[in-house]
Amino acid sequence: MSSDSKFSGSKILLVEDEETLASGLEYNLTEEGYAVTWAEDGKKALELFQAQGFDMIILDIMLPYIGGFELARKIREESPHMPILMLTARTKVKDRVKGLEIGADDYLTKPFHLEELLARIRVILRRKQWYQSSSETVPVYCFGNNEVNFKNLSCRAGKKQIRLTYQEAMVLKYLIDHKGKIVSRKELLEKVWDMSPEVETRTVDNFIMRLRKYFEPDSSDPVYFKSIRGAGYMFVNNY
Ligand code: CA
Repeated sequence: MSSDSKFSGSKILLVEDEETLASGLEYNLTEEGYAVTWAEDGKKALELFQAQGFDMIILDIMLPYIGGFELARKIREESPHMPILMLTARTKVKDRVKGLEIGADDYLTKPFHLEELLARIRVILRRKQWYQSSSETVPVYCFGNNEVNFKNLSCRAGKKQIRLTYQEAMVLKYLIDHKGKIVSRKELLEKVWDMSPEVETRTVDNFIMRLRKYFEPDSSDPVYFKSIRGAGYMFVNNY
């Protein structure tokens, strides 16, 4: 029985080469009401991804043929909005940051509890729904000399053409949706990444720095993405 029937029937591609873990996950996710397709290596995963539509992907990093990082990159090229939850045995901060910058939506370190995985899946699906409905209301947003298309993630910043990652787009959308209001790092981490604030605040700062580099006339003196000392960030657009 599904604990969140709103997302029951969501199609999940499970990419995991450890058969025992994979079959256990397949069983439990199916019990929760999800439609699970299992791929045991990166090549098979890519074929399945190209042949079928999925709502999200659960992706192991160490995989035969095509590794998780490369696979995430290929998937992002074809489908920039596809939510990816990475599974990893590694706990190094470097790998977490790399995964997030490639565009993984979230990270789960093995071994994990089933309840935690299920909670993360619900957050990812809810966030995808928020982003989709918000992008339908305001698909294109302009500020200064910038134009952001939230549907295909392509942007114009002055004369530059930029392609945002899904996470960059979500951070930007969240800030724009809260225009003129202070958004704390904690709030961004919870709403965009669902992550523990103590560990990952640097990730938020990295994303803000990138948004400034893309869109600010002078990234060292921001007019749109303001730092609010001791509180967080605020998107300002008075024009
Ligand atoms: Ca593996």
